[in-house]
Amino acid sequence: MGCSTEDLVAALRAAAEVVIDHRDELVELDRLIGDADHGENLRRGFTAVVSTMDGGGWSGPASVLKAVAKTLISTVGGAAGPLYGTAFLRAGAALDGRAELDAPAVATALRAALDGVLARGKAEPGDKTMVDALTPAVQAAEAAAAQGADVVATLSAAAGAAADGAAATVPLVARKGRASYLGERSAGHLDPGARSTSLLLTALATHAGG
Ligand code: ADP
Ligand code: MG
Ligand code: MG
Repeated sequence: MGCSTEDLVAALRAAAEVVIDHRDELVELDRLIGDADHGENLRRGFTAVVSTMDGGGWSGPASVLKAVAKTLISTVGGAAGPLYGTAFLRAGAALDGRAELDAPAVATALRAALDGVLARGKAEPGDKTMVDALTPAVQAAEAAAAQGADVVATLSAAAGAAADGAAATVPLVARKGRASYLGERSAGHLDPGARSTSLLLTALATHAGG
Protein backbone atom coordinates (compact mmCIF):
# COMPACT_ATOMS: atom_id res chain seq x y z
CA MET A 1 0.00 0.00 0.00
CA GLY A 2 1.32 3.44 -0.91
CA CYS A 3 0.87 6.79 0.75
CA SER A 4 -0.68 9.70 -1.17
CA THR A 5 0.14 13.35 -0.64
CA GLU A 6 -3.14 13.71 1.28
CA ASP A 7 -2.20 10.71 3.47
CA LEU A 8 1.16 12.33 4.20
CA VAL A 9 -0.47 15.64 5.14
CA ALA A 10 -2.84 13.80 7.51
CA ALA A 11 0.00 11.79 9.05
CA LEU A 12 2.14 14.88 9.59
CA ARG A 13 -0.78 16.71 11.16
CA ALA A 14 -1.34 13.77 13.53
CA ALA A 15 2.36 13.55 14.33
CA ALA A 16 2.42 17.27 15.08
CA GLU A 17 -0.49 16.81 17.51
CA VAL A 18 1.40 14.01 19.28
CA VAL A 19 4.50 16.19 19.73
CA ILE A 20 2.31 19.03 21.03
CA ASP A 21 0.67 16.59 23.49
CA HIS A 22 4.14 15.60 24.79
CA ARG A 23 5.26 19.18 25.39
CA ASP A 24 5.55 18.80 29.17
CA GLU A 25 7.44 15.50 29.01
CA LEU A 26 9.98 16.96 26.57
CA VAL A 27 10.38 20.08 28.71
CA GLU A 28 11.10 17.88 31.73
CA LEU A 29 13.66 15.76 29.86
CA ASP A 30 15.41 18.93 28.69
CA ARG A 31 15.23 20.40 32.20
CA LEU A 32 17.30 17.46 33.45
CA ILE A 33 20.18 17.80 30.96
CA GLY A 34 19.54 21.03 29.05
CA ASP A 35 17.65 24.30 29.36
CA ALA A 36 14.07 23.03 29.67
CA ASP A 37 12.84 24.38 26.34
CA HIS A 38 12.74 21.41 23.94
CA GLY A 39 9.05 20.71 24.57
CA GLU A 40 8.07 24.35 24.22
CA ASN A 41 10.28 24.84 21.15
CA LEU A 42 8.58 21.89 19.46
CA ARG A 43 5.09 22.82 20.69
CA ARG A 44 5.51 26.20 19.03
CA GLY A 45 6.93 24.70 15.84
CA PHE A 46 4.47 21.87 15.44
CA THR A 47 1.50 24.11 16.22
CA ALA A 48 2.67 26.12 13.23
CA VAL A 49 3.05 22.87 11.25
CA VAL A 50 -0.62 22.05 11.91
CA SER A 51 -1.53 25.45 10.42
CA THR A 52 0.76 24.80 7.47
CA MET A 53 -0.94 21.42 6.90
CA ASP A 54 -4.30 23.26 6.86
CA GLY A 55 -3.13 24.98 3.68
CA GLY A 56 -3.41 23.28 0.34
CA GLY A 57 -2.12 23.35 -3.20
CA TRP A 58 0.41 20.59 -2.64
CA SER A 59 2.24 19.37 -5.70
CA GLY A 60 3.44 16.11 -4.12
CA PRO A 61 5.09 14.74 -0.96
CA ALA A 62 8.21 16.86 -1.55
CA SER A 63 6.20 20.10 -1.41
CA VAL A 64 4.59 19.05 1.88
CA LEU A 65 7.87 18.11 3.57
CA LYS A 66 9.59 21.29 2.37
CA ALA A 67 6.73 23.37 3.79
CA VAL A 68 7.11 21.58 7.13
CA ALA A 69 10.85 22.33 7.01
CA LYS A 70 10.31 26.03 6.35
CA THR A 71 7.77 26.23 9.15
CA LEU A 72 10.06 24.53 11.66
CA ILE A 73 13.11 26.59 10.68
CA SER A 74 11.18 29.83 11.13
CA THR A 75 9.51 28.91 14.45
CA VAL A 76 11.53 26.45 16.54
CA GLY A 77 14.97 27.98 17.14
CA GLY A 78 17.59 26.42 19.41
CA ALA A 79 19.53 23.38 18.27
CA ALA A 80 16.50 21.32 17.31
CA GLY A 81 14.91 23.87 14.95
CA PRO A 82 17.65 23.92 12.31
CA LEU A 83 18.23 20.16 12.76
CA TYR A 84 14.60 19.13 12.29
CA GLY A 85 14.26 21.78 9.59
CA THR A 86 17.20 20.31 7.70
CA ALA A 87 15.85 16.79 8.19
CA PHE A 88 12.49 17.65 6.61
CA LEU A 89 14.12 19.74 3.89
CA ARG A 90 16.44 16.91 2.84
CA ALA A 91 13.64 14.35 3.07
CA GLY A 92 11.55 16.54 0.79
CA ALA A 93 14.36 17.08 -1.70
CA ALA A 94 14.91 13.31 -1.85
CA LEU A 95 11.28 12.92 -2.98
CA ASP A 96 11.28 15.56 -5.73
CA GLY A 97 9.12 14.53 -8.66
CA ARG A 98 7.21 11.76 -6.88
CA ALA A 99 3.42 11.78 -6.84
CA GLU A 100 3.14 9.45 -3.81
CA LEU A 101 5.23 7.42 -1.40
CA ASP A 102 6.09 3.76 -1.46
CA ALA A 103 8.27 1.93 1.08
CA PRO A 104 11.62 2.44 -0.73
CA ALA A 105 10.83 6.16 -0.99
CA VAL A 106 10.17 6.31 2.75
CA ALA A 107 13.55 4.70 3.40
CA THR A 108 15.23 7.08 0.95
CA ALA A 109 13.61 10.10 2.62
CA LEU A 110 14.63 8.95 6.10
CA ARG A 111 18.21 8.35 4.94
CA ALA A 112 18.31 11.85 3.45
CA ALA A 113 16.93 13.31 6.69
CA LEU A 114 19.67 11.60 8.70
CA ASP A 115 22.36 12.77 6.28
CA GLY A 116 21.06 16.32 6.72
CA VAL A 117 21.13 16.12 10.51
CA LEU A 118 24.67 14.69 10.43
CA ALA A 119 25.87 17.39 8.03
CA ARG A 120 24.30 20.16 10.07
CA GLY A 121 25.04 19.01 13.62
CA LYS A 122 28.22 16.96 13.16
CA ALA A 123 27.08 14.49 15.83
CA GLU A 124 28.05 10.84 15.64
CA PRO A 125 26.08 7.85 16.90
CA GLY A 126 26.68 7.56 20.64
CA ASP A 127 26.90 11.32 21.22
CA LYS A 128 23.48 11.21 22.98
CA THR A 129 21.44 13.16 20.41
CA MET A 130 18.53 12.64 18.03
CA VAL A 131 21.06 10.89 15.78
CA ASP A 132 20.91 7.94 18.18
CA ALA A 133 17.20 7.49 17.40
CA LEU A 134 17.34 8.38 13.71
CA THR A 135 20.32 6.20 12.73
CA PRO A 136 18.79 2.84 13.75
CA ALA A 137 15.43 4.04 12.37
CA VAL A 138 16.94 4.54 8.92
CA GLN A 139 18.66 1.17 9.03
CA ALA A 140 15.43 -0.55 10.06
CA ALA A 141 13.43 1.25 7.35
CA GLU A 142 15.93 0.27 4.68
CA ALA A 143 15.89 -3.35 5.80
CA ALA A 144 12.08 -3.46 5.92
CA ALA A 145 11.68 -1.84 2.50
CA ALA A 146 14.25 -4.21 0.99
CA GLN A 147 12.20 -7.14 2.31
CA GLY A 148 9.04 -5.86 0.64
CA ALA A 149 7.33 -4.22 3.61
CA ASP A 150 4.65 -1.63 2.81
CA VAL A 151 4.81 2.02 3.89
CA VAL A 152 3.17 1.47 7.28
CA ALA A 153 5.32 -1.56 8.10
CA THR A 154 8.45 0.32 7.00
CA LEU A 155 7.59 3.27 9.23
CA SER A 156 6.70 0.89 12.07
CA ALA A 157 10.10 -0.75 11.80
CA ALA A 158 11.72 2.69 11.86
CA ALA A 159 9.64 3.74 14.86
CA GLY A 160 10.51 0.62 16.83
CA ALA A 161 14.20 1.08 16.18
CA ALA A 162 13.98 4.78 17.06
CA ALA A 163 12.32 3.96 20.38
CA ASP A 164 15.08 1.46 21.19
CA GLY A 165 17.73 3.94 20.07
CA ALA A 166 16.25 6.69 22.21
CA ALA A 167 16.08 4.41 25.26
CA ALA A 168 19.73 3.51 24.69
CA THR A 169 20.73 7.18 25.11
CA VAL A 170 20.01 6.98 28.86
CA PRO A 171 23.42 5.70 30.00
CA LEU A 172 25.37 7.77 27.47
CA VAL A 173 27.48 10.82 28.26
CA ALA A 174 26.50 13.68 25.93
CA ARG A 175 29.15 14.91 23.51
CA LYS A 176 27.03 17.37 21.50
CA GLY A 177 24.59 20.12 22.34
CA ARG A 178 23.86 21.70 25.71
CA ALA A 179 23.78 18.37 27.55
CA SER A 180 27.50 18.01 26.79
CA TYR A 181 28.16 20.93 29.17
CA LEU A 182 27.17 18.55 32.00
CA GLY A 183 29.82 15.99 31.09
CA GLU A 184 29.42 12.78 33.11
CA ARG A 185 26.34 14.22 34.84
CA SER A 186 24.42 13.89 31.58
CA ALA A 187 24.47 10.10 31.99
CA GLY A 188 21.34 8.51 33.44
CA HIS A 189 18.86 10.64 31.45
CA LEU A 190 16.96 10.17 28.20
CA ASP A 191 18.01 12.59 25.46
CA PRO A 192 15.08 14.94 24.69
CA GLY A 193 15.76 15.11 20.95
CA ALA A 194 16.04 11.33 20.64
CA ARG A 195 12.72 11.07 22.47
CA SER A 196 11.02 13.59 20.14
CA THR A 197 12.37 11.78 17.08
CA SER A 198 10.95 8.53 18.43
CA LEU A 199 7.57 10.20 19.11
CA LEU A 200 7.45 11.63 15.58
CA LEU A 201 8.24 8.34 13.86
CA THR A 202 5.80 6.39 16.02
CA ALA A 203 3.04 8.86 15.22
CA LEU A 204 3.84 8.80 11.50
CA ALA A 205 3.76 4.99 11.52
CA THR A 206 0.44 5.01 13.35
CA HIS A 207 -1.21 7.50 11.01
CA ALA A 208 0.40 6.87 7.59
CA GLY A 209 -2.19 4.21 6.84
CA GLY A 210 -4.95 6.83 6.80
P1 ADP B 1 18.72 23.73 22.68
O1 ADP B 1 19.69 22.70 23.13
O2 ADP B 1 19.32 24.77 21.82
O3 ADP B 1 17.93 24.30 23.83
P2 ADP B 1 16.53 21.93 22.10
O4 ADP B 1 16.39 21.82 23.57
O5 ADP B 1 15.27 22.27 21.36
O6 ADP B 1 17.65 22.97 21.72
O7 ADP B 1 17.05 20.56 21.49
C1 ADP B 1 17.98 19.76 22.18
C2 ADP B 1 18.19 18.47 21.42
O8 ADP B 1 18.82 18.72 20.19
C3 ADP B 1 19.08 17.48 22.13
O9 ADP B 1 18.34 16.68 23.04
C4 ADP B 1 19.68 16.67 21.01
O10 ADP B 1 18.91 15.52 20.69
C5 ADP B 1 19.62 17.61 19.83
N1 ADP B 1 20.94 18.09 19.45
C6 ADP B 1 21.67 19.06 20.04
N2 ADP B 1 22.83 19.25 19.38
C7 ADP B 1 22.83 18.34 18.36
C8 ADP B 1 23.76 18.03 17.30
N3 ADP B 1 24.92 18.70 17.15
N4 ADP B 1 23.42 17.04 16.43
C9 ADP B 1 22.25 16.38 16.57
N5 ADP B 1 21.35 16.63 17.53
C10 ADP B 1 21.63 17.60 18.42
MG1 MG C 1 16.89 22.99 25.13
MG1 MG D 1 17.44 26.32 24.23
